Amino acid sequence: MSEEPIPLSGLTHYAYCPRRFALVHVEQEWSENALTARGKQQHERAHGGGSEERDGVKTLRALPLVSRQHGFAGVADVVELLPDGSPRPVEYKSSRIPKTNKPGHHAEDVQLCAQALCLEEMFGVSIPEGFIYHVASRKRREVKFTPELRAAVLRARDGIRELLRTRVLPPPAADDRCQFCSLFDACEPFAPRDFPPGYDPFSTGMDDPRFA
Ligand code: SF4
Repeated sequence: MSEEPIPLSGLTHYAYCPRRFALVHVEQEWSENALTARGKQQHERAHGGGSEERDGVKTLRALPLVSRQHGFAGVADVVELLPDGSPRPVEYKSSRIPKTNKPGHHAEDVQLCAQALCLEEMFGVSIPEGFIYHVASRKRREVKFTPELRAAVLRARDGIRELLRTRVLPPPAADDRCQFCSLFDACEPFAPRDFPPGYDPFSTGMDDPRFA
């Protein structure tokens, strides 16, 4: 694939909300809330680099990943090498284990699966599952790399490519996702957007033709 690789971290933003991806990667907005700050600390810890081995499982930290076939690149928090040498990606998230399947609640699964696609290409193996460690729940969640999840990864990649090409800001999700989104203020998801015909919200009274 000759195009620029899609950053793996961007897939989570896009799967959570395409507008969020556009604000971060197209409009260059970034705002930290308590959730993103905690997440960043945990990623920095996981990205400390190095490796260790316990019970025959080798743990690699901050492993660079790339898929030339699918067009992804990034860095894995952790990759575990099982005793037979096959890799499993492990991603650290500050959140709790999601209890519902509402939109955006499994956005990180898309990023994890994209990591697996990279590892499959790099190691020449098939990877059936990976894990997300939810720090707030102190638990690992197994994520199966089903055909549906793999298809969702490629859909997100294609959506991102289209967004980077058109550079059109998608409409806001304006739903449950917004209350946890650090970009709420920049995004203004609930601001009125439908104005009466002829009304220009950016004009002042002096140059508005209606007041001429
Ligand atoms: S505030 Fe809502 S609509 Fe805006 S980027 Fe975040 S999730 Fe998307």
